[in-house]
Amino acid sequence: MLNKYSIAIHGGAGAMSKGKLTPEQESEITTVLKNIVEDGLASLKEGASALDVVQVAVNMLEDCVWFNAGKGAVFNHAGTHELDASIMCGKTLDAGAVSGIRYSPNPINVARAVMDNSPHVYLGGEGAEQFVRDIGLVEVDNTYFSTEMRYQQLQSALKAQEVILEPTQNDYKYGTVGAVAFDKHGNLAAATSTGGITNKQYGRIGDSPVIGAGTYANNQTCAVSATGHGEHFLRHVVAHNISSRMALAHESLEQAANHVIFTDLKSTGGSGGVIAVDHQGNIVLPFNTEGMYRGWGGSNQPAQAKIYE
Ligand code: ASP
Repeated sequence: MLNKYSIAIHGGAGAMSKGKLTPEQESEITTVLKNIVEDGLASLKEGASALDVVQVAVNMLEDCVWFNAGKGAVFNHAGTHELDASIMCGKTLDAGAVSGIRYSPNPINVARAVMDNSPHVYLGGEGAEQFVRDIGLVEVDNTYFSTEMRYQQLQSALKAQEVILEPTQNDYKYGTVGAVAFDKHGNLAAATSTGGITNKQYGRIGDSPVIGAGTYANNQTCAVSATGHGEHFLRHVVAHNISSRMALAHESLEQAANHVIFTDLKSTGGSGGVIAVDHQGNIVLPFNTEGMYRGWGGSNQPAQAKIYE
C-alpha cells in the first residue's frame, strides 16, 4: 500500500455572491465541507477504497440542505424534484448513472447499485425507479427534497420566466455536489449528484449523470467531478476532455483542467468548475465563477474548505 491519499469535494460552482451569505452561514458551510473532507481522510488513512469514500462523501453532501442534491435539491418547472447522479471507478472503468430519480433520498447510492448490481451503466426515469424497488433500496416521498429556500428560488425563476440560469446572472445558483479521491491502493474514483437546474422542463438532464461530461475516473490519468451550466459541460465533454488532454497531449492535471475550464468552456460562455485528482494524488479545483463550495485534503495536507477565491 502507498502512504499517499487525497480527496476533494464540491458543493457547486456559482456560490452565492459575496456578501449574500452571512458570516455565520459562510462558516457553517465551510465547516460542513471541512468535516466531510476530514471524514474522508480518516477512511482513506485506514485503507478504504476511493470508490467507497467518494460515495460516502456525496451521501453526506446530499443529506445537507445547503446543497442542490438529495435533500435541498432544486424544484423543476412542475414544482417537483428530479435528481441525477453518477459514479465511476478509475481502476476498472466500471460506472453507474441515473437520471430523473424522484423517490431515492441518495441518488448516488442508486448509481452505485446500477454499477454493482446491473449489467448496465445508465438507467433513467421510471425504469431506474423500478430497479430501485426490485433491489429494495429505500424510497421517500418526493416532498422529502423540498426546502423553503429552493421553493422561493423556483418562484423567482417562474416570475422571471427563466429556465437556464447562469450563476453570474442572479442568485438562483447551482449547488450540485461531487467528490474525487485517490486511495492508498493507487486507485481513483469520482462521484457527482444533483437536482439539476431550477425550473428545468421536459425531462431536462444536465452533465452530472453523464459519464465523461460531469464525472470521469481513470487510473491512467485522473478523477473529475464537475459543476456548472450542464449544457456547456455536455458539449465540451468536460471530465473526459481533461483526462484525454493528460493522456494524449501529456499535459499535467493542472494544465488540462485549466484549459478546459478557462478556454474551452469560456469559448461558448459556459460557467462552472471541476474538482480533480490525478494518479499521483495531486488535487486541482479550478472554476470560472465567483465562487465554488469546495473542500480538500490529503496525506500531506490537512482538510480545508473555501467558497470564494
Ligand atoms: N451541472 C448541473 C446541471 O447542469 C448543475 C450544477 O452543477 O449545479 O444539472
